[in-house]
Amino acid sequence: MARVFSGIQPSGELHIGNYLGAVRNWVRLQHEHDCLFSIVDLHAITQPYDPGGLVARTREMAVSLLAVGLDPSRCIVFVQSHVPEHAELNWLLNTVTPLGELERQTQFKDKAQRQESIPAGLLNYPVLQAADILLYRAELVPVGEDQLQHLELSREIARRWNGRFGDYFPEPQPLLTATRRILGLDGQAKMSKSLGNTIGLFDDPDAIWEKLRPAATDPARVTRKDPGNPDLCNVFTVHQGFSPPGVQVEVAHKCRTAGWGCLDCKRVLADHMIAALAPIRERAAALRADPKRVERILREGAERARDIARATLTEVKRRMGFYSLPED
Ligand code: SF4
Repeated sequence: MARVFSGIQPSGELHIGNYLGAVRNWVRLQHEHDCLFSIVDLHAITQPYDPGGLVARTREMAVSLLAVGLDPSRCIVFVQSHVPEHAELNWLLNTVTPLGELERQTQFKDKAQRQESIPAGLLNYPVLQAADILLYRAELVPVGEDQLQHLELSREIARRWNGRFGDYFPEPQPLLTATRRILGLDGQAKMSKSLGNTIGLFDDPDAIWEKLRPAATDPARVTRKDPGNPDLCNVFTVHQGFSPPGVQVEVAHKCRTAGWGCLDCKRVLADHMIAALAPIRERAAALRADPKRVERILREGAERARDIARATLTEVKRRMGFYSLPED
């Protein structure tokens, strides 16, 4: 079984974009591979954030991940900062990472543009990502297209380190998610909580419908009589995530032939979403009612992750020539 690592920021409750785009895939992967999934809070502090809400957002993300079906008996779920070896390996890898590569990262350039004073952590973000992956010597990393550049840098860092200190780290390979990128309900930007264009995984049926009803569709459908193209419609992409294959075929046909209006189409989608999300919402409520259980899962997850992380760091530091004191 290959080892898989992936992380998600503690943004609070999951929304359907990160559920369909990443986390649902993790639920499948835990049955096929040796998986570690981390709530990457050390990454979250590279952007302006509210320290007072970080604990709640981290807990809520843990509830979300467990509610969608990550099973601690099949994978390791943990919070990144509970395993301090991430930060230590990050520092060690910084010393083999070329500055020019970091400055070339598209995400760094995008995010840096929006900040008056650029923190070094934003530049070094991909080195921490490399540390996350290499700490567990993971071979596979589920990523979206937008993360491919960072993963390539992780591979480059692994190559450089191996070249200097001897082959140890596997070069992690991407596991591309099959799902098409889900845009926000505005049909413009990526679905993101900060843009307010999401549907939360735990939204109740009324909230789902209220948000879905005005969602952007194929702009060619100005009136009900105009045929549309489902491939250009974000609502259809969401159908592909929630509606059964037969319904998807019917939706595409009725769209192309103007056989129904967009509101009819969205109502069908809402019904399938509501049905699919109901058990997840129930499991989340049960987990919230038992915070000790969530804490226990995260504590055990961090302990299991640390066992692997410590072994890696011991070997990394030995190869890098550090002085380690013998056991008493
Ligand atoms: S009918 Fe459905 S798939 Fe077609 S444009 Fe309207 S919402 Fe989109």
